[in-house]
Amino acid sequence: MIGTFVKLFGTAALAAAVFVSGDATAQTSADWATPVAPFKIGENLYYVGSSDLTAYLFVSKAGLMVLDGGEAATGRQVVANIRTLGFDPAQVKILLNTHQHYDHAAGLAEIRKAAPGAKLYASAADGPIIAAGGKGDPFLKGKAYEYEPVPVAKTLRDGETVTLGGWTLTAHVTGGHTAGCTTWTFPVTVAGKVRQGLVHCSSSVLPGYRLGKTETYPGITAAYEKSFATWKALPCEVFLGSHGRFFGMDAKAKALAAGKADAFVDQAGCKAFYAQQEAVFRAELRKQNP
Ligand SMILES: [Zn+2]
Repeated sequence: MIGTFVKLFGTAALAAAVFVSGDATAQTSADWATPVAPFKIGENLYYVGSSDLTAYLFVSKAGLMVLDGGEAATGRQVVANIRTLGFDPAQVKILLNTHQHYDHAAGLAEIRKAAPGAKLYASAADGPIIAAGGKGDPFLKGKAYEYEPVPVAKTLRDGETVTLGGWTLTAHVTGGHTAGCTTWTFPVTVAGKVRQGLVHCSSSVLPGYRLGKTETYPGITAAYEKSFATWKALPCEVFLGSHGRFFGMDAKAKALAAGKADAFVDQAGCKAFYAQQEAVFRAELRKQNP
């Protein structure tokens, strides 16, 4: 299983490198949705997404929780991956999301078909857009960005926790990329040690986003500013995100398969990522507001 994963993943990573400029733009490709075999990140925490569109499975005696569904096709892979790991997708009780863009939210409806009782918890700004199937985004407009809606069962406030079984996840509303972009933190045991896990939403400034004097949506600039302050302060030992390329998933998965049980523990990588992302944001802000 792991051998197949590395083989598939090595190819996908090269293709995924093309998409460094931003996510959820028109430059979609099957390359970021290449199926990969699921793998274990930590105790009761599994990777169930595609080559780049991530999805995370949280296992507990009280049921399962899934964070993000990728595209519609990814969502179907997520269901298959849950089965491959030996769990019953119908046991998914809670669906979570980083943000409402189709490449992270379209798969949620697919997962819910296998788990009709699953309840979606989402932020106040992004939840209504998921419930409207992608309609209402201030920038990504048109059929290409729409998907099957999922109703929101619970609206999450910034700092609110979600618990299931032994899991406690904290929702941090880190707007900018979308107004309700949500970064998740949680304690997780990796290689016998309790670590602070973090799933980064997205800090990408999409090509065409307006910052400063003219804004893509009111408050986007201040939202990014606030989010960078939050991100830099959050504990981040097990560094994860909504795209595999954010945290170098390819190389880490290979290291994991080669026996490095704590391959995803990368505090320095997380800090460096946020520094680089903030520099990109500030350069774009200066460029648009000379
Ligand atoms: Zn996005």
